[in-house]
Amino acid sequence: MPVQSDFDVADEVCVITGGAGVLCSAMARALGEQGATVVVIDIDEDGLAEVAANLDDVDAEYMTLEASVLDRAELEAAAETVVDKYGRIDVLINGAGGNSPEATTDESTDFFGLDAAGVENVFNLNFQGTFLAAQAFGEYMAEQGEGHILNVSSMNAFTPLTKIPAYSGAKAAVSNFTEWLAVDMAQNHSPDIRVNAIAPGFLLTEQNRYLLLDDEGNLTDRGQQIIDHTPQDRFGDPEDLLSTVLWLIAPGSAFVTGAVIPIDGGFAAFSGV
Ligand code: NAD
Repeated sequence: MPVQSDFDVADEVCVITGGAGVLCSAMARALGEQGATVVVIDIDEDGLAEVAANLDDVDAEYMTLEASVLDRAELEAAAETVVDKYGRIDVLINGAGGNSPEATTDESTDFFGLDAAGVENVFNLNFQGTFLAAQAFGEYMAEQGEGHILNVSSMNAFTPLTKIPAYSGAKAAVSNFTEWLAVDMAQNHSPDIRVNAIAPGFLLTEQNRYLLLDDEGNLTDRGQQIIDHTPQDRFGDPEDLLSTVLWLIAPGSAFVTGAVIPIDGGFAAFSGV
């Protein structure tokens, strides 16, 4: 097979949850630019309208759907809508996720003061949201006998970060589930259903801005520590993820499954010494 067609995703129907967010809207646009059909799922109606404008801009074939990754019935309805219109689902990118101040320790709330509901919300959004979407969309892949599920873990799944135990634990669960599901799909459904994950490092986005920059836009102590611990000496940009996303979902990666790929400027590799 020529190398060029290894990377061809033009005929793929790609569903992206959390697709109105900073990272996944960049993925949606990149896939649209490559000629893929893009289905953007999110709970943020205004965000969906913005992504739609973005996809119009690159002349992509796309659909936006308002649905929550925490609601299996909404996800199943969304999957049915996609299959009714496009006939198949080739790729699911499980992008909905994030941390929240309610599950973060700070000067006024230590570990013992963390609210159980805040912890549960973060855990559910990242782990359950990935699990439920994999069920709803993966079932069509099982029927087709092929497909690719790409989860979004985090570099804090390898080594937990201070302050954010629920988010770190939930992303560790996403990485673990990526391996579990890769095996289950290959053994019990089809060897041509692959499951992988990306583990982004520190990208400056809305979910972590309050932790990394102060009100004047200067690095917080935590932001500075991160930069000091990142051999490439910068935060990442959403665009830094795109080539890895395209590589993992592309047909040429047919023998890559159960992999969690760090995209972190060397953060996870650096001992600090
Ligand atoms: P973001 O907040 O910009 O995007 C998240 C999107 O998920 C939002 O559009 C939000 O509306 C949507 N969402 C929230 N709850 C939802 C629900 N119940 N159902 C459907 N959609 C829902 O965040 P981001 O920085 O673009 O992060 C995207 C993914 O990357 C997340 O899984 C995040 O944990 C992960 N990640 C981010 C970083 C980073 O540095 N930004 C690093 C590692 C991993």
